[in-house]
Amino acid sequence: MTVSSESPASSSRWIEQREALLLAPYAMFSCNSQGRLHPENEHSYRGPYQRDRDRILHSSAYRRLSGKMQVFTGEMGDYHRTRLTHTQEVATIARTIGRVLGLNEDLIEALALMHDIGHPPYGHAGEDALHECIADEGGFSHNQFALTIAQELEIRYSEFPGLNLTREVLAGQTERIDKTKDQGLKPLLEVQLVDAADSTTYDAHDTDDAIKLGLVTLEEMSEVQLIRDAIQSVREKYTGLSNDLTRKAVVHSLVERQVTSLISWCAGQLQDRGFGSAADAMQSDFVLDHAVELAEQKKELETFLYQRVYRHPDLIRVRKKAQNRLKAMFVRYCDNPDLFPAKYQQRSENVGVKRMAIEYIAGMTDDFCEQTFRKICPDLI
Ligand code: MG
Repeated sequence: MTVSSESPASSSRWIEQREALLLAPYAMFSCNSQGRLHPENEHSYRGPYQRDRDRILHSSAYRRLSGKMQVFTGEMGDYHRTRLTHTQEVATIARTIGRVLGLNEDLIEALALMHDIGHPPYGHAGEDALHECIADEGGFSHNQFALTIAQELEIRYSEFPGLNLTREVLAGQTERIDKTKDQGLKPLLEVQLVDAADSTTYDAHDTDDAIKLGLVTLEEMSEVQLIRDAIQSVREKYTGLSNDLTRKAVVHSLVERQVTSLISWCAGQLQDRGFGSAADAMQSDFVLDHAVELAEQKKELETFLYQRVYRHPDLIRVRKKAQNRLKAMFVRYCDNPDLFPAKYQQRSENVGVKRMAIEYIAGMTDDFCEQTFRKICPDLI
């Protein structure tokens, strides 16, 4: 089956035929997309979610993820994950699972590449500081900011502001803003999958980075059952591994264990339920996630990571320093709006100086933030 060179109409037919062959009935099919806020002609050989993925990939916000820390700062070396490599791992793992389950990989990839583009410098520490700065005017959330970037701030097209993504990708990101509220309908399975792949990914790579950086040892982490089981499976398979290779094999096992378990539990559930469409799955009580036993083991690992890694004195020190810096920059920009580059003046008039300061700081990489702090707050160095 190949794309026809005749007309855009025949290309959309080709995408439809391809998805009919590859996707399960409960997947989100491109032909059922609710479209974009600003209508556009179909592309001659890319489907709507492929275009969304490409638009996100080519955005400035996506490129800047390479300079934003995931959990560990660049002061700690250059081995560990950045927000960009984390995003790529999430996309890869989610696509692997999505392919087995017959979900729409293009939509999955677009959602995964988008999910963290709203992160400010210095990870969650940065997010908490910015939220505090503007708590009286709606606060700041990286998930909400990703939508602002995609709908307003990225200026790449003359026809419309933002990236004009499909409603499915925007709705998927909106679901991330408040997962606790009961919305009646479940999110698309592709949206739920990216969320599950996100935690699968960071549970494994934060374990890897924390041990590599010497914040905890593998022995200390073996008090967690998921790690203990992974060590056991590595020891059964190999003998005489170095510490370095043991850590890598354990992390590999950790990813494999979570992905395999998620696939086998969800594939069984999906088969039993026999959903005939994406809408059927959304109206059911089915949740695409890890099986209960593994979910509990993941919770135990996440509690360990929170207490022993994310709250490690080395990270608390970095966190406090970063937060003080961001808060000082916020005050400095609010007191001196002329410090914003000229091209942001219009935005400042539209959203107010305080929100402009938050958005401008949130867009910075860690290094640019450091340089800007030195430039605009020399008295505080
Ligand atoms: Mg993430």
